[in-house]
Amino acid sequence: MNTPLTIALSKGRILEETLPLLAQAGIEPLEDLSKSRKLLFETNHPDVRVVVIRATDVPTYVQLGAADLGVAGKDVLMEHGGNGLYEPLDLDISHCRLMTAGIVGEPPRRARRRVATKFVNIARDYYASQGIQAEVIKLYGAMELAPLMNLADEIVDIVDTGNTLKANGMAPRELIADISTRLVVNKASMTMQHERIKPLIERLREAVSSARRAKEESVS
Ligand code: AMP
Repeated sequence: MNTPLTIALSKGRILEETLPLLAQAGIEPLEDLSKSRKLLFETNHPDVRVVVIRATDVPTYVQLGAADLGVAGKDVLMEHGGNGLYEPLDLDISHCRLMTAGIVGEPPRRARRRVATKFVNIARDYYASQGIQAEVIKLYGAMELAPLMNLADEIVDIVDTGNTLKANGMAPRELIADISTRLVVNKASMTMQHERIKPLIERLREAVSSARRAKEESVS
């Protein structure tokens, strides 16, 4: 008997949108994930189990082979760097934008710009690509507070509706990347477990297409 394939899922808002796609692809956890304190779950599929972890840990689990597959936002994957991972499928969920943002009406003041973010690698690459000298400060939350407290001139953060920025007197400036949630696969698993992983990817691909069709029909 093979060890089951393990899928690492990002907890939080991505999880809510991932579970219906997995169900459509024929994979349903045997317990209600939101009601359990467990982290590792069997599914109706004897060959598949899921772990529910912090989004930022998903690429690490998959890269090092602790999980064969993972579901994570492109922002998290870009920040991680993507070594050791294949990214075969855009799940077309949890869309948002990675942007720079600052206080409304206040252009960045310092010649050497101070930028607060949890996406330090993305921010360094972005400002370097723009030829802007930036001092990047790592924060773990509430990035919007940094310019208000004069800790930074600018932030790099996820923007969805823009309401969080607006509520703090801030506005988006430059778009760094459009973000959505991706399926990632460990490179060794993709080769060694191809017979088991390929059908799973195909079923998920079909689930994504049918969700897209349903969305289009509901709009038209
Ligand atoms: P909003 O006020 O709608 O612009 O949402 C902004 C906040 O929601 C950000 O600070 C993010 O932490 C979070 N957020 C929005 N969309 C996503 C997403 N797709 N993935 C992760 N976090 C998100």
